[in-house]
Amino acid sequence: MLCLSQCILDAVEEEKENMFHPTDQIKLKQVKFESYNDLYDINFEQLDIMGEIKRIEAVVKSLDRNHISREAYRSLARIEHSIPREEAVSTTRQRINIEMRKNIPLTLVDLLQPTIFEPITEEPHITDNAVITNILESIGILTPETSTLYIRISGDGRNVGHKVKHVMVTMTLLNDLNGLQKPDNNYTLVLYPGAESYESLKNALTPLISDLSILKEKGFDQIGGNHWPVELFFSSDWKFLSICLGIKAANAQHFCPWCDCSKDEINTSTKTINKSMDEIKDNYNQINGHIKKPLFYMIPLQNWVCDELHIFLRITDRLWELMLSDLRREITNEEIWKEKILLEMQRLKITFQFWREKNSNNLSYTSLMGPDKLKILKEFNLIAIFQSTERAIQIQELWNQFNELYILMQNMQTTGETFRYKAQTWLNAFLAPSKGHPNRSNFVRGMYQIQDVTPYIHVLVNHSRVY
Ligand SMILES: [Zn+2]
Repeated sequence: MLCLSQCILDAVEEEKENMFHPTDQIKLKQVKFESYNDLYDINFEQLDIMGEIKRIEAVVKSLDRNHISREAYRSLARIEHSIPREEAVSTTRQRINIEMRKNIPLTLVDLLQPTIFEPITEEPHITDNAVITNILESIGILTPETSTLYIRISGDGRNVGHKVKHVMVTMTLLNDLNGLQKPDNNYTLVLYPGAESYESLKNALTPLISDLSILKEKGFDQIGGNHWPVELFFSSDWKFLSICLGIKAANAQHFCPWCDCSKDEINTSTKTINKSMDEIKDNYNQINGHIKKPLFYMIPLQNWVCDELHIFLRITDRLWELMLSDLRREITNEEIWKEKILLEMQRLKITFQFWREKNSNNLSYTSLMGPDKLKILKEFNLIAIFQSTERAIQIQELWNQFNELYILMQNMQTTGETFRYKAQTWLNAFLAPSKGHPNRSNFVRGMYQIQDVTPYIHVLVNHSRVY
């Protein structure tokens, strides 16, 4: 086949100047043959090896990114001969995997089995002193012999796409407050597909838990350098936190990760942290609400933090629900107030819909993203929705006061004391009782009841810390 191709090439080279002008620069690029069902493409050009490698790597990247299976690609490559063969793609993929394994060592764990692993020895993985010094210098906020390394472990069960759930545990150094939000400063420690559960987390986290215990106890010894004490923190949303702490869900009688509060006294604003990790780790089954041994038992309870923005947004959800039940009481024809809400959403340029669930016939509505929720809290005009202007103003005031709490939380200058005082004042307004006699003209309807207070409100009022 190659000889035949060479003959064709020679013939073209010989004849081309008889038929074309030399400035046309005619070149033979490719010859195709077919023999029975086999196809042959012969290309006439200098082989660009680097270019070809790059092209195959780009194919691997594109296959991974778009979840295209090996079989699918193979069948495509059979139809379209100009794309790289599946075998070449597969070899390149293996080479990339080997290189990645060298650069980022990964431990694979079986989520259904307890993990067997080698605990870290006294030697940290990075033994090159120059590298460590470089990192410390580049962070620039640590002073040898004085600084403590504040390490925060964060956990998250998130949806990737519509159906796939991933559990991710990351760490970050809290010493660098300005760099906290940058992705470069968050390191992934554990990642697996599936929903978060106590057992899967326990199996996946065993090596990490062991490392953290050692770090907490001994600190971090820089080879031939300084010793750094370590203080550990944990942060996540409520669900993840309750799983890692081994407590019941937020709707349990004893729901609070930090204190002994029960549902019957959820309107309190005077609770402080009155449980301790030492006590929980040894006697969890004797403590109300605790059902399993905490996974991160080496992190003191006051260093467990529920993400504050998450708490805020969950409380705005509650305020919204309570506003809707106010509307239901006031205007019995649902269509009237739904229409008014839709108009108001249009004014705020927020995409929003109501619908009836197929099975239960319950009323549902679009679940909004954080920025839209905050916009509603600030700008939604309740007077345009309610028949009673008085009620609209009451609710609007409660919302405004809550929005002020949000602004306070964001302000780095806010002290914990001020925040707590304002949060308590807000809870009092939330629970304001009715005044006067219902049949008299001076009657003022109260706001909400103790059963309307959620665990999130309890935590915001009693256990918020402003850093
Ligand atoms: Zn509490």
